[in-house]
Amino acid sequence: MNTPTGGPRYISTRGSGESVSFRKALLAGLAPDGGLYIPDYIPKLPKSVWTGQRSFPDMAFQVLRPWLSKEVPDESLRDILQDALSFPVPLVPLTHRDWNDVFVLELFHGPTLSFKDFGARVMARLMAYFLQGDGVTILVATSGDTGSAVADGFAGRTGLRVALLFPDGQVSPTQERQLILQRPGVHTFAVSGSFDDCQRMVKAALVDKDLSRVRLSAANSINVGRLLPQMLYYVWAVLVGNLKDATVCVPSGNLGNLTGGVLAAFSGLPVRDFIAAHNSNDGFPRYLEGDPFPFGASVRTLSNAMDVGKPSNFERISALLPRAELHRWIRGESVDDDATQASVRRVYEATGYVADPHTAVGLEAVRRYRMASNDHRPCVVMATAHPAKFPEALSTALGFAPEIPERLAALRERPTEVAPLAGTDAALRDALLART
Ligand SMILES: *Cc1c(COP(=O)(O)O)cnc(C)c1O
Repeated sequence: MNTPTGGPRYISTRGSGESVSFRKALLAGLAPDGGLYIPDYIPKLPKSVWTGQRSFPDMAFQVLRPWLSKEVPDESLRDILQDALSFPVPLVPLTHRDWNDVFVLELFHGPTLSFKDFGARVMARLMAYFLQGDGVTILVATSGDTGSAVADGFAGRTGLRVALLFPDGQVSPTQERQLILQRPGVHTFAVSGSFDDCQRMVKAALVDKDLSRVRLSAANSINVGRLLPQMLYYVWAVLVGNLKDATVCVPSGNLGNLTGGVLAAFSGLPVRDFIAAHNSNDGFPRYLEGDPFPFGASVRTLSNAMDVGKPSNFERISALLPRAELHRWIRGESVDDDATQASVRRVYEATGYVADPHTAVGLEAVRRYRMASNDHRPCVVMATAHPAKFPEALSTALGFAPEIPERLAALRERPTEVAPLAGTDAALRDALLART
């Protein structure tokens, strides 16, 4: 165990190998034994977070600083967070008696309109800070929103290139449009396979000896550089809503967002517990109910950024929380597509709030929990994507399409670039070797 004053070092969930610096964990993505990096000790939230009027970047600096063991000078860290997190993060109360004390934390006001912008933008700037122009290729597998957030976060940063993999035909037209935009230094591949194939290909490439001459890193939710910034908005919700002891509901797929929340809670954030709201990819809720190994192939749903059969952060959550303690902190819920559509409609009709399908899964999980428990203490639902990213699903549910924000409409004018790729480890290896 490391001493608290030095800040954490990062160790593999699989327990082998040395502990490494934040820098090394960030740049490697995955530990050499194939495990995920976790901190060897959890710093306490500094008391300074709760005092004074703070902007989001200012709060972010206070929260993240202890996790980086002084590897980034204060001045640079402030600049990085100011530049990365310069968009609003509103906490919206739902106004209707059925939804009393339910708040929606809108995490979708960044440039690519999903919560992935928080992690991707901070990670890209931290990597650029450490690399100072060295050539590294960042691999990303995306089920929809990660890819555009990471591509946008990295595009044009000196010395950094991105290889983006998405499952061909399995993202919404609007998401695809965002993914295949031509961006400097970004290569986008439409993979004939599932998201799980894309994720497996990335993991294989990272440990592939034949690729050792290509400097590779991963930018999925497995990267600590994305994970740590995902603590920030949990702190923000408690801070701006003055919500001590709330239940926080997280629409979940790979469990990276939820892991951020768990880290925040462990570091002393006063939240009561979490609801992991899944769509029909319900392995994690089933695990919480006692099924020893419920993970399998993913199925396609309306909330497609959560279509994950084997959540990559499950390994990390399990390492942080033994099974018995999981129940103390996390309740699982699974919401199928019919219930998701009904949730979009129900919430709109009662409150006028337009939720995207992912957020609607979270709202339905909260509604069920409150019905079953009759516990009406405050709940915060993480609104993970802007409704305008899902015009097809929302038109079906509501009978009208959501308003399209200016920055999304502007994408239609920009040129695109995408290459097809077979869903095999060898295909990705060849593509990476051909480009270096
Ligand atoms: C990625 C994503 C999720 C799932 O988050 P995880 O960290 O993978 O659990 C939920 N909603 C949206 C809109 C997403 O893009």
